[in-house]
Amino acid sequence: MKDMTVTIKRFDPDKDRRPYFQTYTVKVNEGARVLNVLHAIHDTLDPTLSYRYSCASGQCGSCAVRVNGEPVLACMEEAKDKSTIGPINLAVKKDLVADLLPTLEQVASFFPKKDIVLPKKADIDAIKPLRDCIECLCCVSVCPAMDVTKFIGPTAMRQEMRLALDPRDNGDRVSDAVRDGLFTCTSCQACWKVCPKEIETPGKAIEKLRALANKRGFTLPRHLEVAALVKETGRSVPRTAESFLEQVPEVIEPYGPVKATVGFFVGCMYNLRQQQSALDAMEVLKRNGIRVIIPKEQVCCGSPLIRTGQLDYVDELKRRNIETYKSRGIDTVLTMCAGCGSTLKNDYPAEKPFKVIDINELLTQYGIEQPAKLNLKATYHDPCHLMRGQGVRDQPRELIRQVVDLVEMPAICCGSGGGVRSGNPEEAAALGKRRGTEIKKTGAEVVITSCPFCEFHIMGHTDKPVKHVVSVLLDGYREKDRLKAAEKT
Ligand code: SF4
Ligand code: SF4
Repeated sequence: MKDMTVTIKRFDPDKDRRPYFQTYTVKVNEGARVLNVLHAIHDTLDPTLSYRYSCASGQCGSCAVRVNGEPVLACMEEAKDKSTIGPINLAVKKDLVADLLPTLEQVASFFPKKDIVLPKKADIDAIKPLRDCIECLCCVSVCPAMDVTKFIGPTAMRQEMRLALDPRDNGDRVSDAVRDGLFTCTSCQACWKVCPKEIETPGKAIEKLRALANKRGFTLPRHLEVAALVKETGRSVPRTAESFLEQVPEVIEPYGPVKATVGFFVGCMYNLRQQQSALDAMEVLKRNGIRVIIPKEQVCCGSPLIRTGQLDYVDELKRRNIETYKSRGIDTVLTMCAGCGSTLKNDYPAEKPFKVIDINELLTQYGIEQPAKLNLKATYHDPCHLMRGQGVRDQPRELIRQVVDLVEMPAICCGSGGGVRSGNPEEAAALGKRRGTEIKKTGAEVVITSCPFCEFHIMGHTDKPVKHVVSVLLDGYREKDRLKAAEKT
């Protein structure tokens, strides 16, 4: 047995004006779960503590709580000393008991056809990834779209897709999903990453429903315009100035010895809207021994079409991009756009002839020339498609800390992804405003991120400069050069 101290968020709406925190120390066995700690507190110290549980084996979903801000099942999560435990982020009935009913009531029920239809094995296999839900609502508690719209939420969307795949069901699940906010999902992937059953709702339900909606003519007009532009130009952003690809040679050699050679995939935003960030990246790579090959015939990765369910032209884009790098014998493709990187890594065939690496991964893997430290307080916005889509969280921080003082803020979606900025600008603005508020709280003088969509969107919601990680590194190198030059004079 050992002592375990935890702090619990308490609230009894019949007695308390506002929630408060209470700290307890109890004796629990080695390897105790959070639920064991709650039992120990309830049984030995405080019988007024309310929490919910049933199966205690990860099967019923009733004991979902937040531990240090992350939604988990109390029965499965190993308890850690000095943790803070609160209810999941829904209306609270008492203490750790969240009100699940209003959300669960919106999850669609099976509506059987009159005639008996037997599902085929293929139907059952297709439904399988969506049927393990235990209705814990961890996903719902983290969904940003639900905070600012009437979106019915990820598990209800999962159920719509599950029923759409079931030949025995008689509902019109696609039009129901459109009515319930199908196009408000930002593709942030938060729901998937907290799901104890690892149900991939964004890719396996929402994008699939959007593809079915596309066949039925429900795609939003703005998304149709983007798809038409991609078909016409190979790019999802119109050309309004000289592109990055027009400004650079096909091969950029580093200043010193070559540590690695990569093929650069620039992406539409850095090619046509935020060219300077991509040019900054080339300068940073030159200083760090990376030889860069930049094929000019590369096209859009397909992400804007995949996320909005417009799949007709996606295989052609994939084919062209794969052939572009393959034909040059490139075995490593470098991305600096979180969305492109996630798409190339996760939506392109696993057996493609190259590996894909994000620029933060590359620079930390090979190590960088030390930049000068700037007297600047910065905060970092985690792009959803980098942190959740590629699992890249620590590397940008490792780089940033070499140049500026980093102040952390909560990792929340800025609202620009999943076609929301173009298709639902009011929602995107509401989420951007929330991001702007969090930035303000940090007192940072500069906002750093690693995605052009985040960069561009956040710029509209803060009065601070917003920069890619590489641009901040370059600032550090320029200051280093300036100091060196000043020493000589
Ligand atoms: S991907 Fe993000 S916005 Fe979409 S349903 Fe999941 S949590 Fe909500
Ligand atoms: S989809 Fe996953 S997180 Fe959401 S309610 Fe079901 S089991 Fe819980």
